[in-house]
Amino acid sequence: MTSFAHVAGGPDLSALINRSQTVFINGAWHAGRSGSALPAIDPTSGRVFAEFLAASADQVSDAAQASQDAFDGWRHLGGSKRADYLRAFAAGLRARKDELIALQRLNNGKPRFEAEIDVEDAAATFDYYADLACELDGRQGSAVLLAQDGLSGRTHFEPLGPVALIVPWNFPMVTTAWKLAPALAVGCTAVLKPSEFTTLAELVYGDLAPEAGLPAGVLNIVPGGGDVGAALCSDRRFRKISFTGSNATGSRVMAAAARRSVPVSLELGGKSPIVVLDDADISQAADIVAAGIFFNCGQMCSATSRLLVADRIASDFTEALVARAKALVVAGHDRDDGEMGPLTTAAQWAKVGEFLAQAKADALQCLTGGSIEQDRPGFFVQPTIFRDVPMDHAIWRDEIFGPVLAIRSFSTEDEAVFLANDTDFGLAATVVGCDGDRAAKIADRIDAGHIWINTPQIIFPNTAWGGFKASGIGRELGPWGLSAYCAVKHVTIQN
Ligand code: NAD
Repeated sequence: MTSFAHVAGGPDLSALINRSQTVFINGAWHAGRSGSALPAIDPTSGRVFAEFLAASADQVSDAAQASQDAFDGWRHLGGSKRADYLRAFAAGLRARKDELIALQRLNNGKPRFEAEIDVEDAAATFDYYADLACELDGRQGSAVLLAQDGLSGRTHFEPLGPVALIVPWNFPMVTTAWKLAPALAVGCTAVLKPSEFTTLAELVYGDLAPEAGLPAGVLNIVPGGGDVGAALCSDRRFRKISFTGSNATGSRVMAAAARRSVPVSLELGGKSPIVVLDDADISQAADIVAAGIFFNCGQMCSATSRLLVADRIASDFTEALVARAKALVVAGHDRDDGEMGPLTTAAQWAKVGEFLAQAKADALQCLTGGSIEQDRPGFFVQPTIFRDVPMDHAIWRDEIFGPVLAIRSFSTEDEAVFLANDTDFGLAATVVGCDGDRAAKIADRIDAGHIWINTPQIIFPNTAWGGFKASGIGRELGPWGLSAYCAVKHVTIQN
């Protein structure tokens, strides 16, 4: 299908979206042989703007073989050589910045400023792991003192082997960079399976590979749906599976990995709290709360979707927050000044619609929004805020993955901490209050992998990303992201 879809005022996207070959194996592009066409949909209009064929089971197997064949050469190249390739990936992403921004807006519905952040985040991740790849060389064979005369020890950090990387649709390129960059840095080879909803942006990594001179087979890409993901998980050639996505799929991935006794990293869902203390600056807090739930139309694993606000300021604060929500410019790629776009997929739009219908049926107190937008093309939802949501209600407990905020108030810090931790998840949290020490003490008591105090959700490549409880297993980013692809080898030597 040839498409002339474009984003108003944006660059020509035809090279990125009119692809007859979307499967990247052993350094070459191939047409998908599954026979099933995947649509790329513009959530601003709801229209299909491109179609492509998914990888067949044979192609998944070929990709696994290519990653296995390339492994030996890649692992022995040395970290500083691998770093050069990673830097080339970062440069390649930045060189395509305008196209990638436009593509994210077209396929994900992201406002311009969000799409810009994504491209820079992905590039910065490659640069960061290039540095860590060099450092790793310096740590190889580091001495370990042993408590016996005549013996010495050394530690080496080896790549686990070929790895399968499976990613979702909410931050394409970014979730991939968080896996691919550390995996390649350590010396693993990889097969990437993008989300079936946002494949096109991920294919750019396949374009970058030959441009960077990456040896064939080090990176392979197999587009497709759950069947392709499942085939990767059960392929004995992968020594690790790194997955980001829903808890339901994550459980399947873990079960498949358990059958082969291979390690998994799981980055799963969240229902994160944001605590606004009684000394908070109301205007600043309203900005932080709004960004925590409306950024990316709420499609963030880290969305702070449960607001806990101190009784004393609850009324004033809620008024300010509702005003923020009502003033948001909700728009697709037809406007450059949009602050919140549509949801990315029709399925997600329907799912959020079900949550909102349930909230209406249960007569929850809705302060603003409350509906998906049925009379407008595309997958738009009104920014929505519910107050005094019962603690056993799905709006309070379940991950909605949309711009839907649930509020409760608290009278003591103990109550705030209890409510914050009263969830199956533990991915992220935010605390807002003018007394930084007090806010930090509360943050210390919250069970979450990443906590912001008095700042919107900024994530740096050298920080840890991952969840407590049902939000996942393992950590991405930082040195922990590198360790996730390392096998530690200890050697004891008779001197
Ligand atoms: P999903 O679980 O539906 O899909 C994720 C990926 O898994 C897709 O590529 C999909 O094709 C693939 N898949 C589906 N079935 C599979 C199977 N049986 N075996 C292997 N792979 C399979 O998730 P989604 O809807 O794409 O993403 C939304 C979810 O991702 C949310 O729950 C969100 O919280 C989570 N997420 C978590 C993080 C994090 O860092 N913790 C980041 C982004 C998104």
